[in-house]
Amino acid sequence: MHLVRLAFFLTCAAAWAQNTRVILLGAGTPNPEPDRMGPAVAVVSGDRVYIVDCGPGVVRRAAQAGIRTEQLTRAFISHLHSDHTARCFEARDKVIAIGGDTTYNYASIAAAKGCDIPVHELYSQKGWEGRTPEWRKYHAAYHTSGPDVGRVAAQVRPKKLVLYHLLPMGQTADEVLAEVRRNWQGEAIYAKDLDVIR
Ligand SMILES: [Zn+2]
Repeated sequence: MHLVRLAFFLTCAAAWAQNTRVILLGAGTPNPEPDRMGPAVAVVSGDRVYIVDCGPGVVRRAAQAGIRTEQLTRAFISHLHSDHTARCFEARDKVIAIGGDTTYNYASIAAAKGCDIPVHELYSQKGWEGRTPEWRKYHAAYHTSGPDVGRVAAQVRPKKLVLYHLLPMGQTADEVLAEVRRNWQGEAIYAKDLDVIR
């Protein structure tokens, strides 16, 4: 695989085919969740496949999604946990922005403005309140709470907000989505592995 390490900036890749879609190959985190593999997102545009992050299980999930192994030639590593990056894919039919680990971040919001589908990480604010001070400090320093993801979306104003790299911390999907909806009432998708978003 051709690996490109990205750090602290947002870049744009042109992909000119249509029917561009996001496939969640891993909607989870490094934590061992039974239903969600480690972070990995495919952007498929025509016959081109771009993989952003390669969490455990990425090749098997790609096969489940109908992506052939020989199509896995373009991979971007946004983060090795926990730096702050985003990658923007501009296709003819839509713009997709995939964040790695990030806090609420004005630069990322400005760069993602006008984007159709941001794919954003999230932790539950309510779950976070029950963590130890050490963990609260860590999550607040490197990640984004549910209400803050809502604030991001309210400024980016996307067609669909996709939530991945999920840290619900004991809260249900509906409870986490309610945190986001305090600040953003548009479509928000609490991603599962193999979700396809167009
Ligand atoms: Zn991460």
